[in-house]
Amino acid sequence: MIVKSKQTPPLILKLQALSSRILPHHIKHSFIKDDLARYLAGFKGEKSIEYYLSFLPDEEYYIFHDIRLFDGEHFFQLDALILTKRLFCILEIKNLAGIIEFDKDFNQIIQIKNGQEKAYPDPTTQLQRQKSQLNTWLKRNNLPQLPMQGFVVFSNPQTVIKSNDKFTKNIVIKNHTLSSKISDLQDLQEHQKTDILTQKDIKRIIRIVMKLDTPLDNSIIEQYQLSRGDIVKGVFCEVCKHIPLQRIHGYWYCSHCTIKSKDAHLAALKDYQLLFGELITSNQLKEFLQINCSSLATRILKSVSSSMEGEKKGRVYTLTK
Ligand SMILES: [Zn+2]
Repeated sequence: MIVKSKQTPPLILKLQALSSRILPHHIKHSFIKDDLARYLAGFKGEKSIEYYLSFLPDEEYYIFHDIRLFDGEHFFQLDALILTKRLFCILEIKNLAGIIEFDKDFNQIIQIKNGQEKAYPDPTTQLQRQKSQLNTWLKRNNLPQLPMQGFVVFSNPQTVIKSNDKFTKNIVIKNHTLSSKISDLQDLQEHQKTDILTQKDIKRIIRIVMKLDTPLDNSIIEQYQLSRGDIVKGVFCEVCKHIPLQRIHGYWYCSHCTIKSKDAHLAALKDYQLLFGELITSNQLKEFLQINCSSLATRILKSVSSSMEGEKKGRVYTLTK
């Protein structure tokens, strides 16, 4: 059963908003577009894992995608976590193309692509750390300890993996072998004659994982060291992507394709939220939507916010999720 499904990560949504609104000639424009393409490819790779996991019997396997938990000192991120009554299994998913060589001497992997070499930290070391962090987390939350398995899954079918190390060969797999590795897990489960967890324990673990899961919510503007001035303001035309639309007689009017829209500002405010967070004042809204009328701003704010605080010009609205 999928407890938490794989969804488009907030970072990708933020990058999509940013790449559509960064000034076209900005020095970081192509850099941001490249990052977005890279994260999208990684997401596609991780998403492909869902298919292989769908072969697991629903009633025995509980699957969480993208879980981020705090072990008391650090946050740790798990691409996928599989829970059964007898074990935990962590999947660390890698979407690296080309040839990947494991170098145990230096705890690194070397990617050879287009004649160039690039080093990354060894993901098997990362997996070991995640296992120990998950154990610490279970203890901290008074949850039962379980045998812990884990795999590093390379999601790109064309990637060539090279390693002489037996340990590495056991835990590093390609996504199409995930099903057979999972049946190994099933065998392993059958060797353990009795369940460690009861159905009640499972429910409790699910409830606590979901409650304490804390998705990363960094400011994309800070991450790329940008300022509000680097961002294109205004409402996009939903049809021809012209910006900014003009507000005329209760509609958003596109001078380029002459389309009228009643609610084109909603997408703009979604962008605002992704770029600057959920808090907004009337002046910030007017500037971002490129409107002058304060009563229109108030009307829009009342329709899109869940709460407000403060008085008059200092009033801050919270945009609805
Ligand atoms: Zn248009």
